[in-house]
Amino acid sequence: MRPERGWPVPRNGEAFDLLVVGGGATGLCVALEAAQRGLDVVLFESHDFASGTSSRSTKLLHGGVRYLAQGQLSLVREALSERAALLKLAPHLAQPLPFVMPAYRWWQQAFYGAGLMLYDLLAGRTGMGRTRWLTREATLQALPGVQDRGLRGGVAYWDGQFDDARLAIALARTAQAAGAQLLNHVEVTDLQHTDQDIRAVSVRDRLTDRQSVMRARCVVNATGVWVDALRQRQAAGRPPPARLVSPSQGVHLVVDRSFLPGEHALLVPRTRDGRVLFVVPWLGRLILGTTDTPRPDLPREPRALSEERQFILREASAVLARPVHLSDVRSEWVGLRPLVAAPPSHGTSTGQLSREHTIVQDADGLVTVVGGKWTTCRAMALDVIEHCMRHALLPQRPTGHRDTPWLGAPSTTARTHALHAPPGMHLYGTLAPEVLACPGGERLLGLGLTEGMVRYAVRAEYACTVEDVLARRWRALFLDAREARRMAPAVADILQQEGVEDPRLADFTALCAHYLPEGL
Ligand SMILES: Cc1cc2nc3c(=O)[nH]c(=O)nc-3n(C[C@H](O)[C@H](O)[C@H](O)COP(=O)(O)OP(=O)(O)OC[C@H]3O[C@@H](n4cnc5c(N)ncnc54)[C@H](O)[C@@H]3O)c2cc1C
Repeated sequence: MRPERGWPVPRNGEAFDLLVVGGGATGLCVALEAAQRGLDVVLFESHDFASGTSSRSTKLLHGGVRYLAQGQLSLVREALSERAALLKLAPHLAQPLPFVMPAYRWWQQAFYGAGLMLYDLLAGRTGMGRTRWLTREATLQALPGVQDRGLRGGVAYWDGQFDDARLAIALARTAQAAGAQLLNHVEVTDLQHTDQDIRAVSVRDRLTDRQSVMRARCVVNATGVWVDALRQRQAAGRPPPARLVSPSQGVHLVVDRSFLPGEHALLVPRTRDGRVLFVVPWLGRLILGTTDTPRPDLPREPRALSEERQFILREASAVLARPVHLSDVRSEWVGLRPLVAAPPSHGTSTGQLSREHTIVQDADGLVTVVGGKWTTCRAMALDVIEHCMRHALLPQRPTGHRDTPWLGAPSTTARTHALHAPPGMHLYGTLAPEVLACPGGERLLGLGLTEGMVRYAVRAEYACTVEDVLARRWRALFLDAREARRMAPAVADILQQEGVEDPRLADFTALCAHYLPEGL
């Protein structure tokens, strides 16, 4: 049955050391870093863990080949080292992925091959394999389904891939095991000063409408593209602080693996309009993406522009033997990048904005962290905690067990299933026996999800709604929106049996229409 959701209580009965606002990759890593140092931590997420940008990434753990081209070498080096760390911490959810970049012009192999060798060099001992030049035949073998007309050869290199939303849950549970208290579906509505050292934070449970006030010595704003909204809320009555975020939208389309049935991902390093296109096998399907479009409004469920869809379909069709049509799309998802805003002189293009993160402390002590990427979330968290200690917002504590594997991680020597295979029990790693102990393991609901897995999502993985289960505990909505809608009533039924009063079935059914370009 569903665990009771009471309000968290600080260990000393008065105030938490740290209150984190936002349960995406950044906030969850901050909570983990603090909890591993023995600090008393609470985290509030207004919707579901990773329901913002952190479930809508391209699912790559990477140094960023495109940032190499922009000359951001320190960013690439840091990300490559963090890539290696995440592959070790959660090998059931983060794995090496071989890429091939097909070359259609004589200079491409030499030019991009040299760049990728620099990528290897920056990875140093954390590299997963050497960059290699491939003949035309070897390229066709690695990329069955690639356009062979005009193909000269290719360059093979390594990066990482992951299941972003499931990794977020593993992160949340690891933080909880380290002593943090985390609540999803609870929004921070207001921040106030009580006296010099303590901040009072108003919170509202969005599922029950219950409200409360939490007290903490230090508050970290890790709300992604929404950081400015929270800063403005707490600055009520004073001039609004300068904007920190310049959001940019990225669209992904999901199609069948039959378009590229091999085990390699494909990179187009320069599309006809100078962007990058990834074609990535993931959980039994193929992800095509992405775009980079400035998006100053901040919708929870952004929609793709039709020119973004056309761009992806056109570029994918140019590099694949079989053209991809809108009717082939099984799901479409859109994420907002929390890019650090440029000085006013920079102009409006977000493609060139830095992917590095920034930490800002406002006059009343609110610490905001923004930018970076999933791959670098641990490095960001480390910087945040060190910043807070340096400014006496947190007591000094040495680093904790940063290398301790995350919950569910099998020993790295164990054989792990590839993340490009359809979803299954392997995604739970060492926790699979707990899942199998839940009733209904033999009843398949669709896309590898069983009744037992839904029960486990409620009992152990903080799932409260049909959307939590079908969008993030299991990636049904991201793999096939029609199939997810078909599965929803059965999931709602199981949630109710597990004690969830209102699993919000109608909301999820409406949401499914957003994940198909042509509606349902
Ligand atoms: C299209 C795209 C592709 C990407 N691909 C990759 C990739 O392949 N690899 C990679 O490493 N990175 C990638 N990224 C970047 C990465 O996804 C983001 O940098 C990262 O997810 C940001 O995490 P975050 O925690 O800062 O923000 P979010 O995940 O958005 O988390 C912020 C959270 O705060 C919550 N919140 C907001 N207001 C409140 C409030 N008042 N109270 C409580 N909670 C609140 C929100 O609900 C949200 O869950 C990609 C990003 C995009 C958009």
